[in-house]
Amino acid sequence: MTELSDKERLRYSRHLLLKEVGEQGQLMLKQAHVAVVGCGGLGSPALFYLAASGIGRLTFIDNDDVELSNLQRQILYKINHLGQGKTRAASKVLASLNNEITLTPINARLTQDNVAELLNEADIVLDCSDNFNTRYLLNAYCRAANKVLIAGAAIATQGQLMCFDFRAESPCYACVFPMDSQASTENCDNFGVISPLLGIIGAQQALLTINVLLGHHQGSLFSVLDGLSLQQKPYRLTKNSECECCGLK
Ligand SMILES: [Zn+2]
Repeated sequence: MTELSDKERLRYSRHLLLKEVGEQGQLMLKQAHVAVVGCGGLGSPALFYLAASGIGRLTFIDNDDVELSNLQRQILYKINHLGQGKTRAASKVLASLNNEITLTPINARLTQDNVAELLNEADIVLDCSDNFNTRYLLNAYCRAANKVLIAGAAIATQGQLMCFDFRAESPCYACVFPMDSQASTENCDNFGVISPLLGIIGAQQALLTINVLLGHHQGSLFSVLDGLSLQQKPYRLTKNSECECCGLK
């Protein structure tokens, strides 16, 4: 196992003080590869914290350009990024935060044809997307590839945090949200969303990622955060015997 440099020991000193992380844990983060799909409202805080925490390799995928209406919540971007590709802008911002990690920006839309190639090497996949096609695609891929999928969602004043741990038998996203029941147009663009809610859920995705990497969390998880009362409620996930995705095998 490689070692931390003196500079890294200083940079991550507040992690090294924790018995839950320590030098061994920080080395595990350094050797990890996390992929983030979607660099918008959830991807921004998730990527900021994963980069700051010292995840050694970050792949992030998006094919949108930065628009003025994004700046209400997509905290990676600034006025001078307007019109630029999100992954290119994100890469510059993250590199200025931490130049000791490997950043792989991918300006593409995730499809059935490229999903395996783009995510194959990732230890954990974060779904920070804003559409159901990508969600179902990621769910089916991670399930088949036995990867951990950590998904976030936020619409209006409600946020959701989900972990599907496909390293073992697990319910899947389509067990909770059957493929035929979703209004496919439901996203922030037409429903709106309260800005800091994305920060909370995106940061929770990053924290859960670290917990999984360090062995502090395993198994699936589903919780709903009410942005008005700030109550976050966990739900028990169960397999849906009629799930289209689990039925495919
Ligand atoms: Zn399922």
